Parts: sequence; C-alpha cells; structure tokens
Amino acid sequence: MINCEDFNSVLFEALPTGLALTNVDGSIIAVNPAFEKILGRTAKEIYQLSYLDITPTDYKEEEQRKLQSLHDIGQYGPYEKDYIHADGHLVPVRLQGRLVKHEGVDFIWSVVEDMTKSKQAERDIKRFKATLDETLDCVFMFKADSLNFFYVNQGGIDQIGYGIDELIEMTPSDIKPNISEAQFLDIISPLIDGNQTKTTFETVHKHKSGHHVPVEVFLQYIQLPNEEPHFIAIVRDISERKRVEQVLQKSNEELEERVQQRTSEYLHAKEDADHANQAKSDFLSSMSHELRTPLNAILGFSQLMSMDVKDDQTKDNIHEIISAGNYLLGLINEILDLSKIESGRVELSILKHNLNELIDDSLSLIEPLADKRSILIENKVSTSDITINVDKIRFKQVLLNILSNAVKYNNENGKIIIDHSPMDENIHYISITDTGSGLTSAQQNNIFKPFERIESEHSQIEGTGLGLAIGKNLIELMGGVIGVKSEIGKGSCFWLKIKGSECL
Ligand code: ADP
Repeated sequence: MINCEDFNSVLFEALPTGLALTNVDGSIIAVNPAFEKILGRTAKEIYQLSYLDITPTDYKEEEQRKLQSLHDIGQYGPYEKDYIHADGHLVPVRLQGRLVKHEGVDFIWSVVEDMTKSKQAERDIKRFKATLDETLDCVFMFKADSLNFFYVNQGGIDQIGYGIDELIEMTPSDIKPNISEAQFLDIISPLIDGNQTKTTFETVHKHKSGHHVPVEVFLQYIQLPNEEPHFIAIVRDISERKRVEQVLQKSNEELEERVQQRTSEYLHAKEDADHANQAKSDFLSSMSHELRTPLNAILGFSQLMSMDVKDDQTKDNIHEIISAGNYLLGLINEILDLSKIESGRVELSILKHNLNELIDDSLSLIEPLADKRSILIENKVSTSDITINVDKIRFKQVLLNILSNAVKYNNENGKIIIDHSPMDENIHYISITDTGSGLTSAQQNNIFKPFERIESEHSQIEGTGLGLAIGKNLIELMGGVIGVKSEIGKGSCFWLKIKGSECL
C-alpha cells in the first residue's frame, strides 16, 4: 500500500500545475517539473534565484505587498502576473499561495497555473469578435430553444438600433415586422429537423426608431458537440439593390410603354400606308382602264388609216403614232400589272413545270430579236430534265423580260448563255449571262426598283423601267429570289433561285 508521503511526492511530480516552495524572503527551495517547464529552467537553476528574479520589475512592488499580506493573513491570490522565462519572454500565470509552518519555520507554498494558452484563446476570441464587428454584413446568433439573441455584431446593432442588453431579451420576430412568429417557426423548422441545411429569404428589419431596412437573410442551424444548438443569421442590407431594382423596373416599364407607343404608331402608319397604297392601286387601275379605251381607239384608227394612205411621208407619220401608242399601251399594261402585284391582287397557280419547256417557249419569242442583232444564244439547260414549282405564265413573263433585256442591252454579235445548277435543299439556280456593257454595283442595287433605268447609256433603247420590278415581285411571290452579278465592260448575269418540284 502506498504511504501518504509517497503519494504526495508522486502528486508533486505529476501535477500539470506548477508548485513552488519558498522561504519568506523569496528564495526558492523546491519546485515541481511543471514549474520548471513554466520558467524553462531546471530546478537547480531555479534554486539559485529568488522570486523577485523571475518577476518583471513592474510587478516587484506589488509582489512585496503580497508577501506582506501573506504574512498578515496567511495566504495570497489568486491573481495574475507574468514570469520571466529563461529565454526572456514573459509567461502569463495565475498564482495563489499560503503560508505553512514547519518545525517553527515559515514557508510559502505557491500554486502556479500557466495561462499562455487561455490568454491566447482570449486574444483569439477578442480578435474574432473585433473581426465580426468590422464585417459589413450583420451577424445575429440566437438560441434554438428560446430564440433569444445571444450575440449580435456591431453591424447588426447599428442596423436595428438596439443595444446588446436589449437584444438578449429579444427574438428575431421582434425585429421582423413582416414575418409572424408562426411564419418564422415555419422557416426554421426544416433546419431543426435536418431537412434543410440552410435557408435564404428576403424581408425587412425594423429599426428601433421605426424605419425599415430591406434585408437578405442567410440562416443556418448550428449544432456543435456538447453545446446548446443555436442559429446564425448573416444579414445583408439590400437597400441599394432594391433601389437599383426599382429604378430598373421603372425604366423597363417606361421602355415597354415606349415600345408599345412606337408599335401602335408604326401600326397606324402602316395602316395609313396600306390605305394609301390601296388608293394608289385603285387609282392606277381605274386610270389605266380609262386610258386604254381611247388608246385602243387611237391605235385601231391609225392602223385603218395606214391601210388607206398612199403617201409615204404620211404613212411614216402614222407608224410613228402606232409605235408611240404601242409603247404607251405597254407602259399602261405594266403599270397596271405592277400595281396589281403590289396590292396582292394577283393570284398565282404554282405547279410543277419542266424548266426546259419554259425556256424553250420563251426562246422561241426572243430568238428573232437576237438574230436581228446577231446575238448567239447558248442554252445549256436544253439537255437536262428539271422540274420547278412556278406559275407558268408569270415565270415565262420574268424569263422573257430578262432574255429581252439580255438582247436589248447586249452588244451586236454578243452572246447569251442560259445555265442551271442544282443547289442544296432542292433549290435550282438558273442564270442568264450576257456580254453587254455591264452594271456598276450602285446600278445593280437600283434596277429592281420601278422606273429605274440607266438613262445615259440606255436612253435610246426602248423600255419602261418596270420589267425587273415586276419580275422581282413575281419571283418572290413564287418563293424564289432574283439577283444580278455584273462587271462593267464584261456583261451581266441575272440569276434566279427557284424551288424544285420536291418542295411541292
Ligand atoms: P426596261 O428594260 O423596260 O427599261 P427593266 O426593269 O427590265 O426595264 O430593266 C431596268 C433597267 O435595268 C434597264 O432600263 C437597263 O438600264 C437595266 N438593265 C436590265 N437588264 C440589263 C442587262 N442585261 N444589261 C445591262 N443593263 C440592264
């Protein structure tokens, strides 16, 4: 069995707390290993020192007083001070002691606790709190059972205007005017049940003075081992975001209003333009009828007259009348045609047609004109068997116009090549290339507009400037595209992209 003395000596050796026995004059007689560790010196070295040697000068007076009080009341402490470590740094300690008498002599037993770690922890907590106080977001912590706040950082205190003493008596519902207690419980229940790890919501916080602050709340349930569960809420002031959102919404509404206003203005303008267009077409169509009747009479009588007249001069004059009349009739017919197409009053019958046949039909009318000017026509399409989807009469009208232009605006002894190549998605590319004077790019852009003619060069050549405008409208009505490629001095290539029969 261990005797009391052995036990004391084991305890002395093993205790993690420093123990020191000193004379009343401060000289150290015995220390345990924990005390050696606090000072970083061996017991032997320590015995050479007095208590005052291991105490910084600023404590020395106080230390003397403590020794005095020890004398008077038989004990001292606990109090905190620093010791000087062997390497010179200060070791924070908490110490207390009592006077013991042995064989009539006074000794002091001191118990010394190394506070380095707890001081460090204290400093860490201070720093942590100071950091939380400096964060721009507000941090609220409240208990899971009573929902009472137990920590609010400086940002949170500033946000709601209550001091921490008031806040510990309050719960989140007290500062959330838009969320009832029951609603708040609904928010936190899934977190407590573990169905959700965190939740985010927007609400307002009511400041003590009454004003509201729009906020976004990130709420999390914290359950640490051996700790009471609690909630942490990181709360962000979103006043600026709300303000920007409102400005954005207002400008969106204004924009929408403006778009609606512009759209209705546009629709009105379009309606007006449609009406004007319709009125123009009606006017042109009635005018054309009005003009055609007397013009046909003029032409008819002129032809009759020309049969009876013997005098060459008069005959020539009558032929001038007939040719001018025919030109006028052609012009009237084309104006009428264009106005009908533009006002959507043309009905097309789009069916499968053989491209060779359509070209051959057109060529039979054009070849005599080409022969007169010694223009050679090479038809590369004649051998292929291609079917396209077009209105037969209207497609031939377009072909005839392009071919007659290729003759009219070509040089004497020139050439015309008609070619075809299939494109993707069952589209056929048909080209009519001539060796005329060609067109500048500005002219290429304009010639599909009504009455656009290249006056200086082509003024001697008969034409109305309407054929290509009509052709463009017709080809587009058939779902195709018309265009031109040209180079001055080399000639022009008019092309058509037309849907093939598989598209029907
Ligand atoms: P028109 O030939 O009756 O004047 P178009 O609308 O058919 O009317 O043609 C418009 C204008 O485009 C023509 O006046 C002419 O100046 C020009 N043009 C048309 N085809 C050619 C061509 N193959 N080569 C050069 N210029 C052309």
